[in-house]
Formats: sequence, structure tokens, C-alpha cells
Amino acid sequence: MRRRCTARACSGPVNVPVLANLDTLKPPLRTPRWVWRLPWIAAALLPVVIGVLLWLLYDNEREEQRLALISDVLWIEQALRFQMDRNAEQLGILGADLFEHDADARTRRLRAQSLIEQSDSLVQIAWLDPQGRVLEAVPPSLPRAAPFAAARAQHEALRSAARLGRPLYSPPYAIEGNDARFDVYVPHYRAGTLAGVTVGVYSTYTLITQTVPWWFTERYRLSLIDDAGTVLAANSAVPAERNAPSYQLAFEPLGATLRIAAHGASTRLVPGVLMGTIVLLAAAILLSLRAVRRHVQRRLSAEQALQEEHAFRKAMEDSLLTGLRARDLTGRIIYVNPAFCRMVGWSAEELIGRGPPMPYWAPETVEQTVAVHDRILAGSGPHEAVEVRFRRKNGERFDALIYEAPLIDAHGRHTGWMGSVLDITARKRAEELYRQQQEKFQFTARLVTLGEMASMLAHELNQPLSAISSYTTGTLNVLEQSPATRPEVIETLRKVVAQAQRAGQVIRRVHEFARRREPRLEPCVLPPIIEDTIGLIESIARSRAVRLRIDVAPDLPPACVDRVMIEQVLLNLIRNGIDAMAHTPEEARLLAVAAAAWDQGVRLSVADRGGGIAPDVAARMYEPFFSTKEDGMGVGLSICRSITELHRGRLWFEARADGGTVFHLWLPAAA
Ligand code: ADP
Repeated sequence: MRRRCTARACSGPVNVPVLANLDTLKPPLRTPRWVWRLPWIAAALLPVVIGVLLWLLYDNEREEQRLALISDVLWIEQALRFQMDRNAEQLGILGADLFEHDADARTRRLRAQSLIEQSDSLVQIAWLDPQGRVLEAVPPSLPRAAPFAAARAQHEALRSAARLGRPLYSPPYAIEGNDARFDVYVPHYRAGTLAGVTVGVYSTYTLITQTVPWWFTERYRLSLIDDAGTVLAANSAVPAERNAPSYQLAFEPLGATLRIAAHGASTRLVPGVLMGTIVLLAAAILLSLRAVRRHVQRRLSAEQALQEEHAFRKAMEDSLLTGLRARDLTGRIIYVNPAFCRMVGWSAEELIGRGPPMPYWAPETVEQTVAVHDRILAGSGPHEAVEVRFRRKNGERFDALIYEAPLIDAHGRHTGWMGSVLDITARKRAEELYRQQQEKFQFTARLVTLGEMASMLAHELNQPLSAISSYTTGTLNVLEQSPATRPEVIETLRKVVAQAQRAGQVIRRVHEFARRREPRLEPCVLPPIIEDTIGLIESIARSRAVRLRIDVAPDLPPACVDRVMIEQVLLNLIRNGIDAMAHTPEEARLLAVAAAAWDQGVRLSVADRGGGIAPDVAARMYEPFFSTKEDGMGVGLSICRSITELHRGRLWFEARADGGTVFHLWLPAAA
């Protein structure tokens, strides 16, 4: 089961989903709707286009078939005509034997018989006299034919032929089944007068079947049809199929129609099957397209969800302030988050893949860090947070608090260690500052107590010192009036009185200085204040081998000040000057205190011959609790500045040309 790992509370195993390569994933493309419609339209149009193509092919084929049909029917018509013309010619020759040359009857009959056999279409030949009476016929009679001169139409044809003087055909007659008869009349003239007519009787069936070649019969049904639609002859007993391609042509000699029809209508089965297959295939394409589209859409939405999830996780990860760092079981870094990179200053690319020693381990504590690292890798690492010292890329050191937890992958395998790292430098600095301030407050409290004790002590000592002074003065007066008193005793007693008075003054100054009181500004002349301050500090100056030089101008105007406060400022400046000369050779340790009238006021100056003030110290030295001294409180200059501001004065310092510093305090003259 996966657990979320918060930086602070990671004491158990954690899983880190590997989503790094999702960064390279582009946002899913929104496929325009028309792109999806295109294959559908294409698949739907495909059968239509193929259908049209097939139809065009079919039509083309039919057209070709029709053209072939026309050319074949024209050819057969030519062949029939040719056959009939040739027969008419032969009949003419045969008739000339009788009507013009008077050939003998036997020969004539034989020739007629021969013509019938050769022509394959003539079934009877007869000779008529000019009145149309039959002179002779070969064969003499026919089984089912009506007498050829009997019918009216035949008569007409006969007369027309005689009148026009050329062969003429009668309309078909004696129609029966697939057969009919028709005659050809060939007139003969002798000396311009009709001598007789040779008649050839045709069987339509024989004409057609004998004239039409076998290949034609195989391909076509040829029929001869009269105006009423009656079939006069056909080369096949089977009627033509309804849809079979056909063509018809007027067969003028008989006033009938030649009709040709192809055997077997061109089948539409193949195109139909093809078309059906194409439609099925198109349907299959459409179905698979639909399935693909659904699949792609599901995939896209899954990818989008994944990316959103990744973006959310990344946003969380980037906004974390806790550094995260994962290592494999060998200790190599396999993951760092942006907060960790910011903390140490190295980029993820620089860190990932690195093994110990890590670049961010501080060299001075590397042994401890390695020990902690080894313990963690061995699995015996502390379950509590460990504090280590790291360094940033710029060399800066920082304290880090690390919580380590086993890294478990999706299959539950322990693959490394996950560490959450907190930069606790600021916290530690604040703690240290707090500790120092606490110390300084305690020290201040002790000083305050000390001041109160000093004040009380001065007050208490004042009485006995006054008593010593007055008893000594009384004793001195008595002894001075006695002549027996040795002068050395009187001198000694005078010194005792002087020392007691001096002790009293010191005690008074201490009392004045240490006593707690409200600021009281009043016009004061400054030399006594300087004198009192020197009195307070001179023993310290002596102990530090510092010589004091006081240089007070005679015409100082009075200034409106709180005496004790100005004493405090001077005392602090002198004390700092003495401290600054700690490393100055003893013979050069001179501290000069000067007072002069300056710019409508008084300027007090304290000049030392110390090491001067560095710029970074100068920038911070007025801050409360800033000190470069081991035992320094760091409040002196800050108090000096507050007092100066209270007096509407100015406090500044200058570097002395021959080394050291001079502090100036300017106070406005009393109005
Ligand atoms: P403290 O004397 O307790 O350190 P101050 O506020 O009086 O506190 O002084 C602050 C700091 O200013 C000192 O620690 C010292 O570094 C610097 N400083 C003050 N006066 C001088 C001086 N005359 N020469 C050099 N440094 C000085």
C-alpha cells in the first residue's frame, strides 16, 4: 500500500512514484473533430466510388458489346444480301436458259436442282409465263407451301418485278414455327417484252441457318421478324433473354427486321459480389475506426488525468520548503527536490548519480557525517532526526536536521532511503542569539544590582569617612596648639584628613553616578564634569598603563545637560579608547580628552591611539548588544547615542591620521 510522506513525520517506509519522465510528456493534442470524421466520410464514399467505377466499367463493356453486336449484325445482313443477290443472279442465268436461249428442259432442271443444293437457302425454283402461270417447278411441289403465285402480295411482287425489270422479293408467307417462305422474282425480256419470270422460293430458316457461321450462332440469336413482331426465322429455338444486349436492323429486301441478341445477358453477379465485399470491408473499417477512436479517446483522457496528477504532485513538490533526497541502497543519490537543491546550491543534474562523499558534506565534520551515512545504509541508522553540518556550494555552512526512512517501491521492495532535510541554521542562530541576550540581560541585572550596592556602599561609607575626617581635624587642632607636638605628626594627620576628604569625594561621585534618577537637564559648565569622569576612570587607566591628557579650553560656554548622563557618555568613550589601545605599545598609550567651543556649542573629544574601527564594525557598532570584545556588553555606544539625542547633540567619530580613533560629542550651548 502506498503512503504519503510528509517531510517531518517520515519515520516509516515511503514510496516515491517514478514520474520523472512525465516531464517530457507533451500535453495531449486535441484532435479536431473533422480529423475523426474524415476516415468515416472516406470509408462511406469508398463503396460509392467503387460502385460508380464498376458501373462505368460495366457500361463500357456493354457499349463495347453493343458496338460488336452492331458490326456483327451489319456483317450478317451483308452476308444475307450477298447470298440473296448471288442467288438472284444465278436465277437470272437459269431463267435466260428457258426464256432466251431455249435450253433443253433436262439440263435446265438439273441446273436448277444444282442451284438449290448449292445455295442452301432456296427450296424451289419455278418459271412463270408473263401471265404468272407456272411453266415448270423444281421440285414440282413443296410440302407446306402455298402455291407461290396464289397470294396477292406475291402477285404484286411479281408485277412490280416485271414492271421494274429487276429482281424483287415477295413478303414472307407460309409462316410456321421458325420458318417462312418468300420468293424472289427475276423477270426476263425478249425484244423488250416480258418473256417470263424465274421464281426462287426461299426458306427463311434455311437462309439464316445456312448463311450464319457457327461462331455467330454460338454468340448470338439471330431472328427475322415481320412488322407484326412474328418471328419469321431464327437460328435458335430458345427465345432471347430479356436483358440480353440486342440490336435490330431493317432487312429491306423482305420489309422485315433482323434482330440480333447476345446469348446470356452479361451477368451482374461478379460486380455485385465485389460491391458487397467492398461494402462489408468499408463497414469493417468504420467499425475498427470507431474502436480505435474510442481507444484513443480513453488513452488521451487517461494521459490527461495522469498529467494533471503529475502537475499537482510537482506543484506540491516545488512548493515544499523541506528538502527531499532519495538514495539507492549503495548510497547514490537518485532523487532530489528543488528545496534540497536550493538548500545546498547544487542542481539536481549535478547531484543525481553522485555517491559518497557528497559535495555538500562539510569537510570539517566529514567523519561524523560518514558515520551517520554508513549507519543509515546498514539499516541501523537512528530513527530520530539527526543533526549534521552541511555546506552550500558557495562554501557557506549550515546546520541540517535529517529524517531518514526506507524507500519502498511499488512491489514492496526496499530500494533505498528517503531523507527529508530541514535547514535549521536560522533557528540555531536565533537560539544562540537568545542565549547570548539572556546572558547579557543577566549581566545587566548584576550590574544594576552592583550599581545599587555601590550607591548604598557610598552612602554607608560617607558617614564613617566624615567621622574620620572630623575626628582627625579635631585631633589636629588640639595637637597644633600643643608646642610639644612633633611637626611630622601634624603633617601626617593633615595627610590623613586630605585622604579622608578625597575618599569622601570619590564615594560621593560613585554615589552620584550609581544612584537611580530621572534625567535632569540644567545649564552646567563642563570642566567639572570632565574632572569627575577622569576621577572615576583614572585608576583603570593606570592599571592599563594608559596616560591621560586633559585639554580644556578656557572659554567654554555652559551647556544644558544632565551631568550624570554626560559623565556616563564620557566614561564610555574613554573606556572604549583604553580598550582599543590594548595592543598598542605601552609608551604610545595616550588618551587625550579635549573640550572646546565649537559651532554654537561645546565639543568634547576623546582620542585614542588604538587600531581604529573597521568598516564592518563601524556599520554595526551603534546596534544594541554589538560588541567585538570578549567580555563586551555592546550597549555602551547605543546608550551614548540615546543620551546624545536626548540632549539634541551629535556623536560621531573620525580616524586619526597617525592611527587610532577620535570620538566627538557636540552639545548645544545653554540659551
Ligand atoms: P562594548 O564596549 O561593550 O563592546 P560599545 O557599544 O561601547 O560596547 O562598543 C561597541 C564596539 O565598538 C566595541 O566592541 C568596539 O569593537 C567598537 N569600538 C568602540 N569604540 C572604539 C574605539 N575607540 N576604537 C576601536 N573600536 C571601538
